Amino acid sequence: MNKPMQLTDSHGRKINYLRLSVTDRCNMRCVYCMPPEGIAKIRHDAVLSYEELLLIAEASVSLGIEKIRITGGEPLVRVGIVGFLEKLSRISGLRHLALTTNGLLLDHLADDLHQAGVQRLNVSLDSLKPDTFREITRGGDLARVLAGLDAAERAGFPPPKINCVIMRGINDDEILDFAELTRRRGSAVRFIEYMPTLKVDGWQRYCISGDEILERIAARYALEPLDKGRYAGPSCDFRITGSSGSIGIITAVSGHFCNQCNRIRVTSTGQAKGCLFSDQKTDLLPYLRPPDRERLAEVLRDIVSGKPERHDISSQGYKHNNFTMSQVGG
Ligand code: SAM
Ligand code: SF4
Repeated sequence: MNKPMQLTDSHGRKINYLRLSVTDRCNMRCVYCMPPEGIAKIRHDAVLSYEELLLIAEASVSLGIEKIRITGGEPLVRVGIVGFLEKLSRISGLRHLALTTNGLLLDHLADDLHQAGVQRLNVSLDSLKPDTFREITRGGDLARVLAGLDAAERAGFPPPKINCVIMRGINDDEILDFAELTRRRGSAVRFIEYMPTLKVDGWQRYCISGDEILERIAARYALEPLDKGRYAGPSCDFRITGSSGSIGIITAVSGHFCNQCNRIRVTSTGQAKGCLFSDQKTDLLPYLRPPDRERLAEVLRDIVSGKPERHDISSQGYKHNNFTMSQVGG
């Protein structure tokens, strides 16, 4: 049997994970992700077609990418998403196909997603209180997301991973409630540090470090560290002793994160990025219109080689251009 290709960057990190955004549109307006008015609409023809997204996915897998996560914006609002996922899941050499969603449409789509070959879902859920949830998402309906989580399990998915962005004074009073979900529901909850992508005034006051989150959980529960899975990426994982779920801490801001980074990203307009926080990006359109598979693969390999060693987001005087995560594909 042929040995699969391996992609390694110039800092010795194995890169096996592509985050592929299929849209920048969304049916929510989370406070940490988008400005209240939303974002300017991208011209329809600037958004990659499914054929073009598939070319990128195939080229990436041919180089050694083993896991693809579909993200956005909200991937489930794009028409035709299920058919696209079905095609992705048939790419030979792709070992893991996952999708991140806000869960609003999951109740209707869970069965189709499972049949299309999606293996794992991440659902973003920042509060278990309907009012707080509505405030954070600027109008989202918690009941629909919870129905979506149930539908996913009924459809045959493993319990979806729950992504929870913790913000001081907004939802940090719920850290233990989310930890409790890992015992009660066997959920995999991942606490994500709030990242100042929009740089709202005084953003620092919302930040809680992963260390503090962990300390608060450890003050209540006995925790044991877990081994990381092969595609796990930059989270530190724990389990409350005796529970079937898991707790992940993603310290995107406070650091200790970059040395384990295993990913590249491509936006829905075909901009490839080696680092979420770097302003450096490469336009893939010249290799897609018209398609040039060979050059596309070369350019993707260059993006991997050129991955910065680390971001400096937590350092004094750090500067980056404002961006909305929905446009980059968080
Ligand atoms: N709409 C989908 C969702 O919300 O799951 C997928 C796209 S969303 C941009 C992907 C992830 O990025 C979500 O889990 C969201 O919580 C996270 N995210 C967005 N902005 C963030 C920020 N400023 N800090 C931390 N996480 C953020
Ligand atoms: Fe939409 Fe996801 Fe951004 Fe919330 S985090 S506004 S659901 S893209």
